[in-house]
Amino acid sequence: MKSVSDHVAQILSVVHPLSPLELGLMDAHGCVLNEDVVAPSPLPGFDNSAMDGYAVRTEDLAKVPVSLPVVGDVAAGPASPLRVQPGLCVRIMTGAMMPAGADAVVPLEWTDGGVATVRIDRAPDVGAFVRRSGEDVRAGELVLASGSYLGAAQIGLAAAVGRSRLVVRPRPRVVVVSTGSELVEPGEPLGPGQIQDSNSPALTAAAIEAGAIAYRVGIVPDDPRRLADTLEDQLVRADLLVTSGGVSVGAYDVVKEVLSRLGTVSFDKVAMQPGMPQGFGTIGPDKTPVFGLPGNPVSALVSFEMFVRPAIRTMLGALPIERPRVTALTDAALESPIGKRSFLRVALEVRDGAYRVAPVSGPGSHLLAGMARANALAVVPEDVARIDAGKPVEVVVLERRGR
Ligand code: AMP
Ligand code: MG
Repeated sequence: MKSVSDHVAQILSVVHPLSPLELGLMDAHGCVLNEDVVAPSPLPGFDNSAMDGYAVRTEDLAKVPVSLPVVGDVAAGPASPLRVQPGLCVRIMTGAMMPAGADAVVPLEWTDGGVATVRIDRAPDVGAFVRRSGEDVRAGELVLASGSYLGAAQIGLAAAVGRSRLVVRPRPRVVVVSTGSELVEPGEPLGPGQIQDSNSPALTAAAIEAGAIAYRVGIVPDDPRRLADTLEDQLVRADLLVTSGGVSVGAYDVVKEVLSRLGTVSFDKVAMQPGMPQGFGTIGPDKTPVFGLPGNPVSALVSFEMFVRPAIRTMLGALPIERPRVTALTDAALESPIGKRSFLRVALEVRDGAYRVAPVSGPGSHLLAGMARANALAVVPEDVARIDAGKPVEVVVLERRGR
């Protein structure tokens, strides 16, 4: 049997980051930047008011309270033609350009709010409530380095420095196919012996969560011709293919046969539980990576976590490619067959200042409801048969859910 680590290493020796591409700003969201973004001009671009209030000359406020004539209004948008002469002031709105002559803003709250004349009760320091040009970003400053992940704030910053397009590594396009003649599209009526296809929805969702663009092709029956035709059709739009089912030793396990014919794909027994049978390799003219995941729903999802997700993250150029891992104390004993790495479905929480896990499911690879209750996987190594209650265990954190 092949170890989990060896299987991961083989996968990572085959998949590579996708070639960089220039994308529109919103399409670049969630991608990894592949250029340095430099601000052509400063941020803020001009001195402007941080408050709604009055632009003043502080020398006029040596004694407060004082009343000053208000000679005009300046709103965000146009440049102010006004100049604040000694003894006068201008009403100003947040974000409006500071008028010449003024050296501070008096917040509305420090005044009587007057329109023709205003009574000012408190004097600001020189420069108070003024956002200085360049105090956020200087002209020529590197604001986003190549390799940065483009989340919401980074997309906002790119927009603020005037970028409508960015060079990024694109999201891999992942095609998801379920195989099995027993499968029915979710929502369709079930005949005897039939089950709903839960793997293609789950794996498509998992691929999207990993950062991919995912296409759920859905169900292909256990028919080698149909499967080969489907995969060949899908190759035109796939950077990565994921199938589920048909990789064990049953008589109708057609994925093995078809993938072996379309490219260089090996099928291994990987020393893990769940998810022992694993297919991986490349097919088609572009040597597109393909995963043949086992059909049991928990096996499929755990295999995705361990093998497909790191591949997608590698293609994205995103780091880290692994989920975060923490050490937790287990509330109940955890058991695992010697020689296999077990991934046990657990609920992770922080209790009394420490990470704690409790099993939420048995080990069966068909127990999808248990997988849906879990927010983490406890990892019991190959050489460990049992971790007693109260002892530490390594945990892969799948998600953080509010509840
Ligand atoms: P297989 O790997 O094709 O032998 O399938 C193993 C088990 O997983 C069988 O019980 C299948 O019915 C089940 N299974 C396979 N594919 C799916 C799927 N797409 N959705 C739900 N269960 C599946
Ligand atoms: Mg099957």
